[in-house]
Amino acid sequence: MIMTNDDVLREAQEKGVKFIRLQFTDIFGILKNVAITIEQLEKALDGQLMFDGSSIEGFARIEESDMYLRPDPNTFVVFPWRPKEGAVARLICDVYNPDGTSFGGCPRSALKKALKEAADLGYTLNVGPELEFFLFHTDPEGRPTTVTHDKAGYFDLTPVDLGENARRDMVLTLEQMGYEIEASHHEVAPGQHEIDFKYADALDIADKIATFRFVVRTIAQHHGLHATFMPKPIFGINGSGMHSNQSLFKDGKNAFYDPNDPLELSEIAYQYVAGLMKHARSFTAITNPTINSYKRLVPGYEAPCYIAWSGRNRSPLIRIPAKRGASTRIELRSPDPSCNPYLALAVQLKAGLDGIKNKLTPPPAVDMNIFAMTNEERANVNIGSLPGSLKEALDELAQAPVMQEALGNHIYHRFYEAKMEEWDSFRVTVSQWELDRYLALY
Ligand code: ADP
Ligand code: GLU
Ligand code: MG
Ligand code: MG
Repeated sequence: MIMTNDDVLREAQEKGVKFIRLQFTDIFGILKNVAITIEQLEKALDGQLMFDGSSIEGFARIEESDMYLRPDPNTFVVFPWRPKEGAVARLICDVYNPDGTSFGGCPRSALKKALKEAADLGYTLNVGPELEFFLFHTDPEGRPTTVTHDKAGYFDLTPVDLGENARRDMVLTLEQMGYEIEASHHEVAPGQHEIDFKYADALDIADKIATFRFVVRTIAQHHGLHATFMPKPIFGINGSGMHSNQSLFKDGKNAFYDPNDPLELSEIAYQYVAGLMKHARSFTAITNPTINSYKRLVPGYEAPCYIAWSGRNRSPLIRIPAKRGASTRIELRSPDPSCNPYLALAVQLKAGLDGIKNKLTPPPAVDMNIFAMTNEERANVNIGSLPGSLKEALDELAQAPVMQEALGNHIYHRFYEAKMEEWDSFRVTVSQWELDRYLALY
């Protein structure tokens, strides 16, 4: 249902809303809030509320700090865990400059721009993300640890533990907020969980991912647990991914489906796959934006590290799940849940569209376990690797005009600068691993 500003005002009154959080994300995908009271809602909906953009990292300089928030009425949701009386709701906003132009540092607007480019070709992008996360105990001071008492594995049925209860509560809360939950299960690693919700258009899904992380953390806290979307919290066991199932629709039909092709995939689907593969090295800094992201992208833990596609196995970057018809989709397996969902979807779409516009052909599918192949075997069939570190990924991003166009100059440059700073800080730090390895030896 499309909501208008009047619908929001009416619903807010009916539901006894007292406080409204105006939300947006910074370029790193961190959710930001400006809280207002119901008395200011009309003014806010008219886009008249201002905030100081210079206090948000990567946003604006002091001299251009006045920013305006324009709430999207379709994102109005009441927080189910807050009191019914004096209820709290939120609206997700786009960020605008005082002169009424869209602010170059607004990730949501960057995604909208990529979606417009797809729309001009007649396509809408549908996305179904699979978010994995860990539930850990907190210490007596309430700080997160990496301790879990749960011993379960994939799909295990164990005596109900704290984690299972928390997950059940998360699912119920998300449903009350309009998520259609398709599956929720224990993942491979102890303490690791996954909750999947139904695919929808990319903007709605990016909003849902940003909200999901916040809701899951909030509900975990109510259960005395800490939920983390850090990609690889523990060495030696699976990390957390955010597989991105995606398909283009045209005139209400899945444009990736073609019953006459041997794999029942359309020309457009192959071109989209080719575009994702061509730009994979340059968009990885966006889909996997932390130092820690690269500790997940290693062989042996169901996360990809080689640039290949397959109709069957789970070792390559891209898998084509078996479902066809309206469910025909491409699963990109590299993204992790520490990414900015708006930017991550913008760069994936841009890469896929580039494949379509240039009618690219993907290399042949690789249906064997790539991890079991030798370096030489991989080189023989031209299978490249994803970047092995944030630095390598940033070097690729630095020479990627298609990604620069997807992100816009402001985000492209600020993101690169901030992430290089992150890399440098990591680079000069002496870690426990180094002490363990060298202290006694030298
Ligand atoms: P997996 O096969 O990796 O376990 P899941 O079944 O857990 O995948 O997740 C499938 C995801 O794909 C869900 O979010 C689902 O809504 C989504 N999905 C289904 N059809 C489409 C489609 N046509 N386009 C995009 N996503 C889709
Ligand atoms: N946890 C794995 C990853 O890091 C994915 C497991 C799965 O296939 O669901 O991507
Ligand atoms: Mg999973
Ligand atoms: Mg998957």
